[in-house]
Amino acid sequence: MRFHVLTLFPEMLEQGLCQSILGRAVQRGQLSFHMVDIRDYTEDKHGKVDDYPYGGGAGMLMQAQPVYDAYLSVAAEIAAGDSRQGDGEARPGGRVRTIYVTPQGRTFTQRLARELAQEEELVFLCGHYEGVDERVLEEIVTDYVSLGDYVLTGGELPAMVMIDAIARLVPGVLHNGESAEDESFHNDLLEYPQYSRPEVWRGKPVPEVLLSGNHKNIQAWRLERSLERTRQRRPDLYERYQMRQDFIRELAKHKRRYIHLMELLSRDMAWEVCREGKSLLLNVENTQIYVLYAESSQEAGQLLKQCGADRLWEQEHIRILVCQEDVRDFLTERYGLAVGGVCRQACYTRKESLRVQHRDIRPLTVDDLEHVAGRYPTCERAYLRQRLLAGTMYGVYMSGGETSPAGFIGIHEDGSMGMLYVDEAYRRQGLASSLEGWLVNRHLKRGEIPYCRVEDGNLAAMCLQEKLGLCLCGESMWWLEKRKNICKNFL
Ligand code: SAM
Repeated sequence: MRFHVLTLFPEMLEQGLCQSILGRAVQRGQLSFHMVDIRDYTEDKHGKVDDYPYGGGAGMLMQAQPVYDAYLSVAAEIAAGDSRQGDGEARPGGRVRTIYVTPQGRTFTQRLARELAQEEELVFLCGHYEGVDERVLEEIVTDYVSLGDYVLTGGELPAMVMIDAIARLVPGVLHNGESAEDESFHNDLLEYPQYSRPEVWRGKPVPEVLLSGNHKNIQAWRLERSLERTRQRRPDLYERYQMRQDFIRELAKHKRRYIHLMELLSRDMAWEVCREGKSLLLNVENTQIYVLYAESSQEAGQLLKQCGADRLWEQEHIRILVCQEDVRDFLTERYGLAVGGVCRQACYTRKESLRVQHRDIRPLTVDDLEHVAGRYPTCERAYLRQRLLAGTMYGVYMSGGETSPAGFIGIHEDGSMGMLYVDEAYRRQGLASSLEGWLVNRHLKRGEIPYCRVEDGNLAAMCLQEKLGLCLCGESMWWLEKRKNICKNFL
């Protein structure tokens, strides 16, 4: 990931960002920082970049011209990089996100850090003095983001804070890929207390359970401490957490049908777009996938009206998953949505892990895109690329020396298992069971309920689920799309 920072004090950011974990990620080529000194772009022969504000008032203002020209140089560099890469993949959303750090923006959160960590390039603009001429902000800024409700002297510290929080979420920057998930704010909980050597310090012993080696008891103790700490220190987060747990318990009464909602909520992968009574519309984080929970078409109608449904359909690639037939009919008739797929859910509700016969299963990388896309044409290439980049596709290898996998499986954007494929030459040898069994075990280790969706009528897929012990839901569910572009990414 590449960060471009427009600033009057580049050395401040270089000092602050190129140390420790981020410094090592730069050396490994996972991150790069491009500091641009705005002063280098001024047309003023004395190097001036600021002037008095029209209308009077205290302080100076950063002028539009140097900021704009500095931005243009970055935009040109990004465009040149895109054409050099030439991999034919258009930048999603077109324009690179340009963040002006300002006390007048929305507050920076872990959720926003997760969202921004999906980008390949980001531009930050640091203000100084009394701020920046409004006209250049209107031209270049896509996001106004604040560190909090206080005023600092310049944007360099906020930019550094935000870049640090975003960069550590880029895959591979933290050594243990899962450590970001255990941290504070995941699932609206604060992290549990931690201890290191010695076992006793100033008469204070480390809690006994942490020395027991019993992983299950350690997990339970940590959750309890997290809850206690959140309740005491952040009652606002604790209340949100409790509300969500109550809802998950309600959904668990119809687990097979609502496993997707339960898992999206408990894995903290979706945010609430709106809620009305018992109905709920969720957006899977960083995607255009929505999941609707409403018991009748009338409730669905009220909910969508409340959240401004017309605005929702402005997004071109929007997809909604619904579980009720009358809600499906309502959405297709009222909003002209098309049915993109009919499927059923299957979930693994047992706790025991599955036996895996073929054990050489490894993550695939974007270098495997040709291989995967050639064999899995029902998924869009861009989607497969994104899944590979996210590190959520895995291949099975039949002998250590092979460069291509004999089969593969993946985790979809919404957390369900899918994209299972085994090469013709290796079929009927149990590879599909090994791949799915391996993935089921991976979910179980993370405390998740593994689930998938199979296309209605795909008997082979249904049989595999039953063979592995997944419970198939008796009722169908539907993907609805804005355009009649029957996309099978999620089947
Ligand atoms: N006059 C501005 C106002 O009242 O909104 C404040 C300008 S501040 C002194 C100078 C620069 O520091 C801003 O342009 C911005 O880039 C940065 N800054 C100050 N406080 C910030 C905050 N809470 N979050 C993000 N950036 C901040």
